[in-house]
Amino acid sequence: MQVDIIRGMPSPRFHSRQDWILASQFRPEAEAAFCAQLEKKILSLADSTKKPPAVIFDLDSTLYEVCPRTHLILREAADSLSRGLPGPVKRAFNSLLESQVGYSISDTFQNLGLPLQSPTIQKAWAKIKGFWFDRFFSNEYLKHDRPYLLAPEFVTRLHKKGAHILYLTGRHDEKMRIGTLDCLERDGFPVGDPRVLLRMKTGASPDDAAFKARVARAWGERFNVLACFENEPRNLIRLQSALPKSMAVFVNTVCSDKRTLPGNRLFHLKLFPKLSHS
Ligand SMILES: [Mg+2]
Repeated sequence: MQVDIIRGMPSPRFHSRQDWILASQFRPEAEAAFCAQLEKKILSLADSTKKPPAVIFDLDSTLYEVCPRTHLILREAADSLSRGLPGPVKRAFNSLLESQVGYSISDTFQNLGLPLQSPTIQKAWAKIKGFWFDRFFSNEYLKHDRPYLLAPEFVTRLHKKGAHILYLTGRHDEKMRIGTLDCLERDGFPVGDPRVLLRMKTGASPDDAAFKARVARAWGERFNVLACFENEPRNLIRLQSALPKSMAVFVNTVCSDKRTLPGNRLFHLKLFPKLSHS
């Protein structure tokens, strides 16, 4: 949580989730309209050799629904940790539905009515979170992710029109590159082409927002980055300030409860648009 430096209190200027959406200013254009506008820009710049057109895409919860990955891991946690979990937690996780899985493990506990204020529940939460963490950030489980409806078609279309596709993710390179590339290929996203880059975190990278801002600034030197698609408000705000001329597109799926300043002039996308035949 960001803290107001002067008073040492949580600042009312920072918001998360629904409050952030309400406090932010979005442009009035609908998805189909601004995506068509983006396509036109790409086409008009496709032959530019100096700074070719490019679009940045985040992966988790922007192009991919990660809920099935978490759901499977949590069901495995219920099996493996069964003996060490208190009755209510064991019962809830044994019959866990995908629809009960939240963005974070804390959200899932809340969805299940398991109060984290209770020390016993908190202990179970720590065990389950540790189990989840080791598996969620690994190649092995990525295959359970699902691309959002029409996301592969949309990204492919921009690529065909002449855009460089720049995947920018907080996933770790060492543990997740192979699985990430396999899934992108399986799901029909552009990959394995000189006009496609995948940038992931390496070693002791800083937090996602700082990492993404740094990479985006460097890409801004090489490419004419026309748009950034991102589900995490904090990351999007940093991307927008790194690339003020790009369209900053908030992909409204799920996001963390990390607080950030409200956005301005953002584009709002709930569903990837159906494509026309031009
Ligand atoms: Mg994301």
